[in-house]
Amino acid sequence: MSKDNILRESDVVVIGSGIIGMSIARELARYQVDVTVIEKEADVAMGISKTAGSLIYMGLFQALSLVIKDLGKGMDLEAETKTERMKMLWGGFRDFDRIAHDLDIAHKHVGLLIIARNSDEVEKLRRLERLAQFVPGGTVKKVSRDELFQMEPNITPDAVEGLYDSTGTVSMFGPEYVIAVYENARENGAHVLFNTECVGIEKKGENHFVKTSKGTIKARRVINCAGKYADRIADMADARSGWNLVFYRSQALILDKKVKGTISHIVGIPPDAGKIDFLYPMEEGNIHVYGGNYDLIEDREFTETTRENFDDAISRMKKLVPCLSEKHIITSYVGVRTFNDKEFEENLIEYAPGDPNFINVLVRMPGFTPAPRVARKVVDMVKQSGMALSEKEHFNPKRQSIPRFRYLTDAEKERLIKEDDRYGSVVCRCETVTEGEIVEAVRRGATTLQGIMFRTRSGMGRCQRNWCGPKIMEIMARELGKTKGSITYKGNGFTLATD
Ligand SMILES: Cc1cc2nc3c(=O)[nH]c(=O)nc-3n(C[C@H](O)[C@H](O)[C@H](O)COP(=O)(O)OP(=O)(O)OC[C@H]3O[C@@H](n4cnc5c(N)ncnc54)[C@H](O)[C@@H]3O)c2cc1C
Repeated sequence: MSKDNILRESDVVVIGSGIIGMSIARELARYQVDVTVIEKEADVAMGISKTAGSLIYMGLFQALSLVIKDLGKGMDLEAETKTERMKMLWGGFRDFDRIAHDLDIAHKHVGLLIIARNSDEVEKLRRLERLAQFVPGGTVKKVSRDELFQMEPNITPDAVEGLYDSTGTVSMFGPEYVIAVYENARENGAHVLFNTECVGIEKKGENHFVKTSKGTIKARRVINCAGKYADRIADMADARSGWNLVFYRSQALILDKKVKGTISHIVGIPPDAGKIDFLYPMEEGNIHVYGGNYDLIEDREFTETTRENFDDAISRMKKLVPCLSEKHIITSYVGVRTFNDKEFEENLIEYAPGDPNFINVLVRMPGFTPAPRVARKVVDMVKQSGMALSEKEHFNPKRQSIPRFRYLTDAEKERLIKEDDRYGSVVCRCETVTEGEIVEAVRRGATTLQGIMFRTRSGMGRCQRNWCGPKIMEIMARELGKTKGSITYKGNGFTLATD
């Protein structure tokens, strides 16, 4: 291959800019190596990471998660609390507060309340309580019927008792977490190439030539973090042996901020294998209606919402909190959970067969929670593969978020407007987002409407961009020196109304 064909030469190429790829890139950016992340989409967090429930969890929620993900396989759940994966989850859970502090990620510690509505659910609650004893991070106690209604007056009157964990769950917004990691990795020297799809990988001697839609990158190491496409990337490099991917879809609802205060804890019922029901108050005040069945799908692209799933979610929501109704829903979306069939309960983090220069990283659900520990493990594997990594003298672990105008005090607002009067002009009325925030989001790299939404929350309220969308596009066009018509919703020609 002649030198002319080479777009870049990089020590490490990471394929995929979800939470896993970006966490690895940030961890590598601590060292004196050239890191290049390639992403086929126009922004970070466009794959599974976009659809995550956005909880960082251990304790009771992790016990609950084990019961669900047994998926009828009859696993020894107590043994599952002692696996390598669980150690990473516990480490990642403990790391989160520091990372959120360093990267200025909005988050909230929120209690988890699991309620039983009949004797069958009381029995399941008991089993959950027993299992939760083996999972660190929680502070779990029984709650009587009276206490339940003091804590959550709006839950179903059928509730008879509950289980409460005050310390095991933190709520954040997944895309914001990925964007924060991305900005900090970039600040520390990582190169991130968007709209750059990996289309082939050729191995020559010690190097891999990663062919992309933009040209070829010569890499000493390749790390495959392509989420639900990890099998396809591995096949390009002949780097897959003995595993396939398995996909489960489920549809969630997001409710209007008007319902803020209806619940103040995550509220759910004891799960069954492959089935969960819970609602949670999001950091910004909306309620997330989550769960239902884990539906096994053959087609990983089946992400359209369906009326059937929609109605099912509404009915489950009303059974938990009867005062909530269809009129509160502002949007619905589908997430596809991806597992590997080699070790269903484990993550797949391994060298390609016979090739320590290529690492497959497929992190099954939950992925945000263990991400910092997964990143450290992969960096250790890179070292073990023979690449010398010496630490940079000036790694900067800190990043500041875009000012969140709506949360500032009056004095802070006034000061900001004096510095830049665009902070005095509210563009998104539902979420109170100013022109100053949108301009700053563009300056930090947002090129699509969705990129602006994820960085500022504009367009994510009740009107769902109908009022503010055109205005945001106008500002983006001006700042990017483009025509308004060329601004897309999420790249690749998707226009405003599509998702
Ligand atoms: C409904 C749902 C709820 C969840 N809730 C939680 C939760 O509450 N807490 C938690 O910790 N975890 C949760 N998870 C799990 C978590 O979201 C995932 O484990 C995590 O997002 C996976 O991240 P990733 O980086 O591996 O994959 P992704 O985010 O999918 O990233 C992979 C990236 O690779 C890119 N890519 C693919 N092919 C190519 C190519 N050929 N060239 C270039 N780029 C490519 C994709 O575009 C994508 O951006 C949830 C998942 C789902 C589906």
